[in-house]
Amino acid sequence: ATPTALLVGSGRASQLGILIKGPEILESTRRIDTMVLDKTGTVTEGRMRLADVRPAADRAELLRLAGAVEAASEHPIAQAVAAGAAAELGDLPAVTDFAGHAGRGVSGRVEGREVLVGRPAWLAEQGVTVPDDVATDHHEAERSGATAVVVAWDGTARGVLAVRDTVKATSAQAVARLRELGVRPILLTGDNRAAAEAVAAEVGIPAADVIAEVLPEDKLDVVARLQGEGRVVAMVGDGVNDAAALAQAGQQGLGLAMGTGTDVAIEASDITLVTGDLRAAPTSISVSRATLRVIK
Ligand code: ADP
Ligand code: MG
Repeated sequence: ATPTALLVGSGRASQLGILIKGPEILESTRRIDTMVLDKTGTVTEGRMRLADVRPAADRAELLRLAGAVEAASEHPIAQAVAAGAAAELGDLPAVTDFAGHAGRGVSGRVEGREVLVGRPAWLAEQGVTVPDDVATDHHEAERSGATAVVVAWDGTARGVLAVRDTVKATSAQAVARLRELGVRPILLTGDNRAAAEAVAAEVGIPAADVIAEVLPEDKLDVVARLQGEGRVVAMVGDGVNDAAALAQAGQQGLGLAMGTGTDVAIEASDITLVTGDLRAAPTSISVSRATLRVIK
């Protein structure tokens, strides 16, 4: 490939909102046969809203304590909980000793109580008792396709908050275009399987191509495993928790970051999709194929 033609190709891409770190990246883009899509913030808007609080009788207390801790976190779940709590209750109490635990939850001290909000398995690891009625509420919320987190204080789980996200209007089209290009889309997420499958169904990805409940540090291994099967893998993501997997994908294939995402994800990637419209992912493949066809 002549350097001039590659420069023309990356110039064309940048007009389409696809920023490429170096023209040589077009070569690997052309060969992609599998594209791993992060769910939250990539396929979905990543703007969750509070949908349900259980048990209803404890609504104000659950929202006050969970909202206070989540107000210190930037995770989309946290923003939904904090905004929902503030909308109902006004000012929230202060939190001290806040800690965020990637892919697991948050903890902090509010009104003299040790509050944890997160996935039940993580709460159990922290020594929290999860009563049957709370486990049942959590299970039912997830079965309905929501993302549900458990709220605990002073060693006992007290209730469940369910949040919901919206699939981006253009994601289904993006998935269809990937298939037309012969690229297999796979959905990857730390979220629960039911919520992941609901999103997958909406965009046209079969349940068999959904990889759910993956901890941030294990996303890289998923990409490496697909590479080990001989696939040329691209990964699209937006979060801090996607960065290692994006870099791993870039070793043999391609890492793509949403321009609307975190700086860490953008730095780890070969390509930035400026607007956050997932259709730019198949477009980057078709532009590189067209460029290299002209050259050869
Ligand atoms: P994704 O892969 O969809 O971006 P994450 O890896 O960020 O998801 O989170 C996975 C799971 O960890 C969430 O579905 C939730 O159960 C839990 N979790 C992560 N961050 C938080 C938080 N700030 N508050 C409560 N739960 C959280
Ligand atoms: Mg994400």
